Amino acid sequence: MKDPSKDPSRICIFSLSTGKLELVDRVVLSQEEWQRRLSAGQYRVARMKGTEPAFSGEYHDLHDVGLYRCICCGTDLFASYSKFDSGTGWPSFSAPVHMNNVGFHEDRSFGMVRTEVTCARCDAHLGHVFDDGPPPAKTRYCINSASLSFVPAHGKNREKGDMDGR
Ligand SMILES: [Zn+2]
Repeated sequence: MKDPSKDPSRICIFSLSTGKLELVDRVVLSQEEWQRRLSAGQYRVARMKGTEPAFSGEYHDLHDVGLYRCICCGTDLFASYSKFDSGTGWPSFSAPVHMNNVGFHEDRSFGMVRTEVTCARCDAHLGHVFDDGPPPAKTRYCINSASLSFVPAHGKNREKGDMDGR
């Protein structure tokens, strides 16, 4: 029997709604198809590795309780409980919902050495990760609003698992 977890077209990602790792198909589309599905701004950031101007995005100053999903494939990426005010003008998180859900790549563009963060399921560009965040982890995920879709939690004092509106 073939081990399904070894299939390169599938990936194990964490679902905040079930609290479990789930084996799902990777999302691979042509640039034309992404361009059709996304707004011009979303496409430029998420598929062309663009960066939205500081303080211009939808979520940098959002403090609502909820979940941030990938704009391209809907993968759970960040939760409001990891969000903090970095003052940079981009949504900033101390950690993703699960390390399986993001990918890391060395980015040597613009004469800097940075670590790019992508969606593990569809390779969308999300932003970069730095090591100047709040303790104890000190990681700062500097993420473009354009790559995210916010799903508010319904009502107050809900359990983490209820944050998912699916
Ligand atoms: Zn994605």
